[in-house]
Amino acid sequence: MGRQSGLEIEKTKFAKLATSLPSTTDILRGSLLQRRIRHRSGCAVCARGEGHLISVLTVSYPGGRTKQISLRPEQKPIVERWLRNYHKIKATLERICELNHPRLRAERNSDR
Ligand SMILES: [Zn+2]
Repeated sequence: MGRQSGLEIEKTKFAKLATSLPSTTDILRGSLLQRRIRHRSGCAVCARGEGHLISVLTVSYPGGRTKQISLRPEQKPIVERWLRNYHKIKATLERICELNHPRLRAERNSDR
């Protein structure tokens, strides 16, 4: 009976975790970096040697490959939000996987 109520608690946890998930399509994996670019000609700012800071999304892949995508300034807050969504979903999936461990044990114990 203690096990039964435990499973009920888990169901509630699952439901809460599932409803706390952000959009599962507005997600991005990677890191947001700032990089300074310099125009070769025709830019007064770069002629003074200052350059411009631009945001870059860097995504790494197995084997050490990386992909970099330069962002327009207005894209930065969107990318930040989508990166947060990805981390939240990933953390939630990890949590659900952990919650499934006792479910395996419960099934094994009731199946003898
Ligand atoms: Zn410039």
